[in-house]
Amino acid sequence: MKLSGKTRVLGIIGSPVGHSLSPAMQNAAIDELGIEYVYVPFPVEPDYLGQAVEGLRRLGVWGFNVTIPHKSTIIPCLDKISPEAELCGAVNTVCREGESLVGYNTDGIGFLASLREDLHYDPSGSSVLLLGAGGAARGAIAALASAGVARIVIANRTRERGQELLEKFRTVFPAVEFILSSLAAPELAGQLHNADLLVNTTSVGMNGTSFEYLPLSELPDTAKVYDMVYVPAETPLLGEAKGRGLTCANGLGMLAGQGVASFKLWTGLEAPRAVMKRKLLEGLER
Ligand code: NAP
Repeated sequence: MKLSGKTRVLGIIGSPVGHSLSPAMQNAAIDELGIEYVYVPFPVEPDYLGQAVEGLRRLGVWGFNVTIPHKSTIIPCLDKISPEAELCGAVNTVCREGESLVGYNTDGIGFLASLREDLHYDPSGSSVLLLGAGGAARGAIAALASAGVARIVIANRTRERGQELLEKFRTVFPAVEFILSSLAAPELAGQLHNADLLVNTTSVGMNGTSFEYLPLSELPDTAKVYDMVYVPAETPLLGEAKGRGLTCANGLGMLAGQGVASFKLWTGLEAPRAVMKRKLLEGLER
């Protein structure tokens, strides 16, 4: 890595950030292209977010990622946000544009890239059953709807939260049929019958946890399964899907994809996706 007075500084803010794989992934991309950038972790406590963003602005930091718990709370600290970030109510990438700090959300781009690359799945005209209604679900819904999906079923533990999302997105994407479901029988079983793609956007699966009720036997044989969780690499959901012979993928490709899109926003260059994905795999194996 070349460091000089001209090196452009990139980074990630979050609390905690010690576990983040983004520094290793982004610095691997920087090394591969031999460009004068460096990417560093910045731990930022929620109470100091505003001051930290002002500090990054004044220090001339070129761009940064934003992770938990700052993805929504950073919005008032920025000068402008993109339409995607507005729709998701969350920012994961900040770019310096002249004197302004502009917020973007590349999670949706990463998700679509991973569906294409890891599942060979084209959402256009298809029917998707999406588990969850949190931040990750919002990004996924916006991306799927923009990619021309025909039908999205939102199945969430807390029904009101699902309802809120449904109403918001129904207004923005009137061509998409939105349906609300619970995570219980018999409602969920009926929705599984009609799904071309099942997407888990909840945190269920982390640390090997499982859904109380999710009969994958109800999915069509041609259905595909995507789990945004990537630790462990094979969640119980993915293990069961594999056992049923369904094509499936975890969220590693999405993590790489959002990083590729952020890299392009900061540098204007195509990122070396394979190098970044390999670095993520190495980080997870450690
Ligand atoms: P979030 O906003 O806190 O939402 C969490 C969601 O999980 C909610 O819908 C919640 O339901 C549901 N949930 C939590 N525990 C549950 C349980 N025991 N049973 C059923 N549903 C449960 O979190 P998020 O930001 O959307 O992140 C969700 C997951 O996506 C995390 O595991 C995160 O690591 C992953 N993710 C991955 C990527 C990637 O690049 N691969 C990117 C973003 C996020 P309620 O509404 O009922 O609470």
